[in-house]
Amino acid sequence: MAAPAVMHLRFVRDDGKALDYTPGQFIQIHFPLADGSNARRSYSCATRHDHVMTCGEAVEFVASCIPGGAATALFQGMNIGDSLNASGPLGLFTLKAGDTNSRYLMIATGTGIASYRSMLPELEERMRARGVKVVVVHGVRTPDDLLFAEEFSDTARRFPDQFEYRIAFSREGFDASDNRATLAIAQHGYVQNVLPALKPVPGEDIAYICGNPVMVDAVVEALKTDALPMKDIRREKYISLK
Ligand SMILES: Cc1cc2nc3c(=O)[nH]c(=O)nc-3n(C[C@H](O)[C@H](O)[C@H](O)COP(=O)(O)OP(=O)(O)OC[C@H]3O[C@@H](n4cnc5c(N)ncnc54)[C@H](O)[C@@H]3O)c2cc1C
Repeated sequence: MAAPAVMHLRFVRDDGKALDYTPGQFIQIHFPLADGSNARRSYSCATRHDHVMTCGEAVEFVASCIPGGAATALFQGMNIGDSLNASGPLGLFTLKAGDTNSRYLMIATGTGIASYRSMLPELEERMRARGVKVVVVHGVRTPDDLLFAEEFSDTARRFPDQFEYRIAFSREGFDASDNRATLAIAQHGYVQNVLPALKPVPGEDIAYICGNPVMVDAVVEALKTDALPMKDIRREKYISLK
């Protein structure tokens, strides 16, 4: 468990090959339901290319535990060494070659942060190569729900002038500054409430938004109010399949 209601799962291909994916892409899990129909669920790759596994390059993802959820039950019923069927990689929610922006705004709720964890090595490379700034904003309910906080804090520690790690805690009733990510700037509220402090600048910022579809739409609207052009707003909605 990566958090009380989030599983961190790691798989290797049974042909021993690495999955040739670009950070930000996702895979689809295929499995049968009790009624005999076939289900599929998507999960963003959380793997970092710079984390070498003893078992070869693994495919990692984080999955929310949804009460009554079909994929949730599938994962919870698996043992170490079990197999499942998956396809991919899929998706265009990736860092683009040729970006000339001065800042990336990487906004996520919940497990949506997995995409940015996977992008961290490339974001670091871009900070080094062309001095771009990066702000990661993660929306969660409480400090217990944070994911990969140590890794984002570590990047903030190594790029103090370029990398900012911000957290929005949606649940009240605790001290927001008392969180495990010691290098994060934390506040109560939703990720949308963090945007005014970032002062998005049209033509300079490129925004990525990943996670809950309602949040994605709300952030897009807020960024449009800030006059960010749609071409500079890239998004991935975690729509659940019926
Ligand atoms: C491109 C893409 C990438 C995705 N990446 C991830 C990822 O990295 N990690 C991840 O956890 N999920 C991700 N999702 C969502 C994921 O595919 C599943 O929808 C989710 O995990 C629920 O699957 P389940 O089978 O357990 O629940 P389901 O059987 O699909 O749902 C059971 C019930 O719960 C409702 N429900 C579904 N999701 C939620 C929710 N989040 N909160 C409240 N109720 C819900 C459903 O509407 C349904 O009524 C992604 C979706 C897309 C489209």
